Amino acid sequence: MTVQNSIQQGTQCVWYGEEKYLMQGATQTPVVHSVAYGYDNVDEWMAVALGQQEGHIYSRNTNPTVHVFEEKVRLLEGAEAATSASTGMGIISSTLFALLSPGARVVSIKDTYGGTNVIFSEFLPRFNVRVTLCDTTDHDQIEAEIAKGCDVVYLESPTNPTTKVMDIARLAAAAKTVRATVIVDNTFATPINQNPLRLGADLTLHSATKFLGGHADALGGVVCGRKALIDQIYHYREINGATLHPMAAYLLLRGMKTLELRVRRQNESALQIARYLEAHLAIEHVFYPGLTSHGGHEIAKRQMRGFGGVLSFMLKENSFDAVRRFLPKLRFAHRAANLGAVETVVGPPATTSHVECSAAERAAMGIPESLIRYSTGIENTADLIADLDQALRPS
Ligand SMILES: *Cc1c(COP(=O)(O)O)cnc(C)c1O
Repeated sequence: MTVQNSIQQGTQCVWYGEEKYLMQGATQTPVVHSVAYGYDNVDEWMAVALGQQEGHIYSRNTNPTVHVFEEKVRLLEGAEAATSASTGMGIISSTLFALLSPGARVVSIKDTYGGTNVIFSEFLPRFNVRVTLCDTTDHDQIEAEIAKGCDVVYLESPTNPTTKVMDIARLAAAAKTVRATVIVDNTFATPINQNPLRLGADLTLHSATKFLGGHADALGGVVCGRKALIDQIYHYREINGATLHPMAAYLLLRGMKTLELRVRRQNESALQIARYLEAHLAIEHVFYPGLTSHGGHEIAKRQMRGFGGVLSFMLKENSFDAVRRFLPKLRFAHRAANLGAVETVVGPPATTSHVECSAAERAAMGIPESLIRYSTGIENTADLIADLDQALRPS
């Protein structure tokens, strides 16, 4: 797949969205900490408040620094509009609660991000929203559930932590026949590797905390799509108050300037590491969409420009004890509940993506006890492979 725009993504990451609030020759976007914006002319104030004139009123609603961050993501996703929230979960919950009403129905998958899964299993049912969670790779079942009628189809690809791949174009086409809104969590792929809107989705959203920011020092979330949908989500988010902080927006913006560089390195390293691990005697299985052994490889090749920085693997000794012994041996990896950072980050689902689940629930979801999620950083590939090699050596 090629990007339609003739300006390439690396250039887009650096320049897009930046120009609007540069002041006095400054080359960087200011961090506007002001809570409110003053108007000597009451008519002008009124025009801005009514949305008839561009400007800002109060930073829970809109803020210049936050706006520049939203613009950069919007342009990278090729969207008409974007809005943000304080975290990935802030934007996911705002999106779902803005679009759904009692009596509505959602079709989604069992492998959504843990927090999203809690919204589906615990919160939405309390508001009489019916949720059907399908087997993530069973496209026939998902299509059949969509055909029964639904209001929202919520997808994630690749998934966390077993990197399952969903055919976004196929499911978006199915959703269109019942006029459902298609939402795709694009956190793992990033706009560098995948643009769900070009595949027919209505909304693409991110935990900006991960790859977009890339430095594990700021939380944030963002959603992109048609203006009418984004306006609805923005309206809910301005009232629920989960606003992105301008300082976080600045850190995310700065991180995004190197997004293409980082993701390109992470794509390359993750593929090499996946191939290395797949051939290793101490490894039972490697989950990575770039491997020809991966069930979703052909779909991934069609809809992604790179296979992403996250892989997971299962140790041959399938016990949590084996994980307990292996993880501390890695030198170039944080053992933490995060991903998409410049540093390599590793962790088992039990303490990261599926911390909300019991061991029995994890087993039912097909998540083995010895599974390890490996989020490739931007270190040199050879050093990461050497590090894995020494850690996997029998002691
Ligand atoms: C981390 C993550 C989220 C939640 O984002 P937060 O910023 O932690 O709220 C949502 N989806 C995916 C795929 C994630 O990895």
